[in-house]
Amino acid sequence: MSRNQSMTVLNPATLNVADHIDETPIYHISNMYELSQAASLKWREQSVKKRLTYIQELKKIMMARLDDVVEVLSADTGKVKVEAVTADVLPVLDAISFLEKHAAKTLATHRVHTPVTFFGKKSYIEYMARGTVLVISPWNYPLQLAMVPMMNALIAGNAVILKPSEVTPLVGKCIEELFEQAKFPKGLVQVAHGGKEVGAALTRGKPDYIFFTGSVATGKKIQEEAAKELIPVTLELGGKDPIIVCGDANLDRAAKGAAWGAFTNSGQVCMSSERIYVEQSVYDEFIEKFKNETLKLKQGTDTDDDMGSMTFPGQIDIIKGQLEEALAGGARLITGIKPHEWDLSEGLFLPPTIVVGVHQKMKLMQEETFGPVAAVMPFQTDEEAIELANDSIYGLNASVWSKDIKKAKRIVSKLVTGNAVINDVMISAANQHLPFGGVKQSGMGKYHGKQGLRVFCHEKSVMLDNGKKKSELQWYPYHNKYPKIRAFLKRMFWKKISKLADPHKTEK
Ligand code: NAD
Repeated sequence: MSRNQSMTVLNPATLNVADHIDETPIYHISNMYELSQAASLKWREQSVKKRLTYIQELKKIMMARLDDVVEVLSADTGKVKVEAVTADVLPVLDAISFLEKHAAKTLATHRVHTPVTFFGKKSYIEYMARGTVLVISPWNYPLQLAMVPMMNALIAGNAVILKPSEVTPLVGKCIEELFEQAKFPKGLVQVAHGGKEVGAALTRGKPDYIFFTGSVATGKKIQEEAAKELIPVTLELGGKDPIIVCGDANLDRAAKGAAWGAFTNSGQVCMSSERIYVEQSVYDEFIEKFKNETLKLKQGTDTDDDMGSMTFPGQIDIIKGQLEEALAGGARLITGIKPHEWDLSEGLFLPPTIVVGVHQKMKLMQEETFGPVAAVMPFQTDEEAIELANDSIYGLNASVWSKDIKKAKRIVSKLVTGNAVINDVMISAANQHLPFGGVKQSGMGKYHGKQGLRVFCHEKSVMLDNGKKKSELQWYPYHNKYPKIRAFLKRMFWKKISKLADPHKTEK
């Protein structure tokens, strides 16, 4: 018998070895799919109400093990506990509340209008579970970005296979235990541990749906593989989010918001405020306030600390490369130190770093940094700010700061982004009622809200005739039917057409 490969787990904040986790052997994956498909056939027969009881059991277990779950999250990622509980555990609990309140109605069969042209018929839409959903998740919010799509897929009637990130395997193990403790039916929820080879093998295993959260590069590979079988995918990918601070913004609030937006989770957030555009008239004042807010931040592993460590050592070289290129091109540090002075000997702590003197073509303004670095640039007019914000391959989230709400809304309407926030950062992603997802290379598809549930179903449109009539107008034989159909169309549509507005007349 071949032995499983083992992954060594480091605590990134202390660099101590925390544990070893066995990888799932690739040869085991076909068994996982067989088990999953069998389990999904039984599970889809359960009512949504019954499925919810399992999720509620999961909630009870999570609440009972809250401190332990937070401890695992913090040790595996290096994030501080306040962030583990607010940004990883809370969204899972919120998602459960959303499902409890809305799942049954959202997934229920519902009637829709049938035009008079189909007199005597009825129309409805029903939602049918897809089968096995493969969830592949990243390391930055390893609990919520795995559990929220998993729970939505389950409540929609599917079985789930999770491939958690190999960078945070203890959280993957913890998720597996939570589902085991909630005693979901055998084979319904399975976790495959390991790296990209395991992820790739799972993708090739022909799931019925793939929900992927991670980098653009991996997202493209997954879509390419999925396309071979036309497997539908949701891709939640990277970002390079802009924040626009207008001259009339509440600058104290904007500076505090920018500090949180740029440095929470050490900047390892897909919606991190990486590009900060500030109107020239308030630029110096904003920089001063932003600097003061940043200098207050305490880094460490204590419960009261503000910033934890980086999670993934590999990310540090990317951040270093972008910063060095910017500094060589004339950029200046307002806070933080030069990359060659970083001391990572006792933990992966990077200083919160504000950079000015940047220009739009620098990697720091174009590529995802995924670290505690905020680049700030002045702008002259709203149009220029919009142009700069849109000058990106990404379009995940954005934020606009102004006391003039009409103006802020006008700016938001012109941003090419999947999400936006006015006078705050990121929080649109935390509202389970708002669909979340990126545009351009930030991804495709949405989750959260009704779409977040229905995406895991085949949406089946049905028309029903009671079958009593002998024939239909459009059926054979066509003999002598053209004049009748023509007369019918004239009666139905002519009057309405004659009332339509002229497109060449200017609107008043
Ligand atoms: P990643 O793409 O390296 O890995 C994500 C997951 O994919 C991991 O589980 C990994 O093992 C797996 N994987 C890697 N190669 C694979 C392959 N060929 N086939 C199948 N699976 C494979 O991303 P990451 O470094 O873990 O996460 C950081 C990225 O995720 C950032 O770009 C960030 O912006 C993005 N992200 C996006 C969102 C969002 O909601 N849009 C949220 C969080 C993170």
